[in-house]
Amino acid sequence: MSFAELGLMPELLRALNAVGYTTPTPIQREAIPLVLSGRDLLAAAQTGTGKTAGFTLPLLQRLATTPVLHPSNKHRIRALVLTPTRELASQVEASVKEYGQDLKLTSMVIFGGVNINPQRDRLQRKLDILVATPGRLLDHVGQGSIDLGGVEILVLDEADRMLDMGFIRDIKRILALLPTQRQNLLFSATFAPEIKTFAQNLLDNPAKVEVAPQVTTAERVEQRIYPVDRDAKKPLLQKLIIDGNWNQVLVFTRTKHGANRLAEGLDGDGIPAMAIHGNKSQAARERALSQFKAGKLRVLVATDIAARGIDIDALPHVVNYELPNVPEDYVHRIGRTGRAGAGGEAVSLVCVDEHKLLADIERTIRQKLERVIVPGFEPDPNARPEPLRKPQAARQPRRDSPARSHSAPARSGEGRSNEGRPSGGSGRASTGSGYASESRAGANANRSPNRGEANGNRSSDNRGNTAAPRPQPSPGGPRRRPSGNGNA
Ligand code: AMP
Repeated sequence: MSFAELGLMPELLRALNAVGYTTPTPIQREAIPLVLSGRDLLAAAQTGTGKTAGFTLPLLQRLATTPVLHPSNKHRIRALVLTPTRELASQVEASVKEYGQDLKLTSMVIFGGVNINPQRDRLQRKLDILVATPGRLLDHVGQGSIDLGGVEILVLDEADRMLDMGFIRDIKRILALLPTQRQNLLFSATFAPEIKTFAQNLLDNPAKVEVAPQVTTAERVEQRIYPVDRDAKKPLLQKLIIDGNWNQVLVFTRTKHGANRLAEGLDGDGIPAMAIHGNKSQAARERALSQFKAGKLRVLVATDIAARGIDIDALPHVVNYELPNVPEDYVHRIGRTGRAGAGGEAVSLVCVDEHKLLADIERTIRQKLERVIVPGFEPDPNARPEPLRKPQAARQPRRDSPARSHSAPARSGEGRSNEGRPSGGSGRASTGSGYASESRAGANANRSPNRGEANGNRSSDNRGNTAAPRPQPSPGGPRRRPSGNGNA
């Protein structure tokens, strides 16, 4: 099944070609035709499944090929995508731009924690697609700088997380501002009861799509972290391969250079290894891959992008020699093992430089991974972290974009207000620490000043963090989020 067979227009096919996707993922195969047909959609799919392209591609096509539905105001937004975190909002909008590069549609992302004024200015001009976190969107509504009366397509991405994070009331407020005639797409990692109830009220006779969540795969995969010093990674890997008698090992590095160096080092030490990455010719990649598949090559060292096309059943061992920059890539990587019901083992060699990446991954997969210290490889407790080398990403447009890079403005203390949470809470982890993490210089730099809202608690800096108690909402106050940049 190709993207063309799903009915996508040439402009989108060209963009997909440029990005390097050849085959639709299961969620894309199912969701794209349904969304193109104009139906409402309830999709259970989580990060790592390709869900973003699953809704972005048909959304772009519908906007490009159908006349404006609510034409009374030429600047009206035609599609609104709501996401729980600023990081996800950035990623989604980067996808919109990337896939829509050959279309004349305009898009913008808005989230809090940055100066609101440039956003307000941009909102005055033609805008087809708006990706937003709920809080900042409502800030704009409050300021009268946004008109949602023209929305034809609404996407709620990671709806379960939005509910977990207490956005339900914000979302309801936003829904009330939309025209009733519109297409609704709801993506959620699960069909938990609260999502079902929410969806029942929102969606009109929706098509339902469910793809096997990645965690299901991950659950079959034995995952382990080996804390180790930076310079001891290679000897540790050699030990694991030899002691474990691993004969077919896919090893991931973050950079092409690192892949080369490691493959050469292992090979030089008598462990047959080759590297594949974007700088290798297609022929060299195929040669390495076929030898690896045939069991003639013990170790294949790959960068993330090069590994995308690798499809080997029941690959027994995946090693993250270096953790990926993007947590979703971890899920992709370990998804290379434990396929089709077979068990698999995914181990990560983690040095002090990567602790933050590890924390991001564990948050994303909602799992604390087991640490195993190998005798003789105990990490130096006094080791100081060094900055990670950036992967050269010429062929990795998404990862290259600010939205994907590790230094992008990211989810922070987004809207972890308890307000709006169903009473009693959902029982799921949704504390401030759940997603709060980075304090991004970029996002902080332009933080908007407190606008002195009624409850006076919008000025505080919740960036990043977790520990500060969240102020209680003032009943009847205009908004309940504890601080200004929180959810938007
Ligand atoms: P998502 O689940 O939308 O966050 O996507 C997960 C990752 O898969 C992203 O890095 C996408 O760039 C990538 N991706 C999405 N669709 C495809 C595809 N059809 N082929 C290869 N990679 C894809």
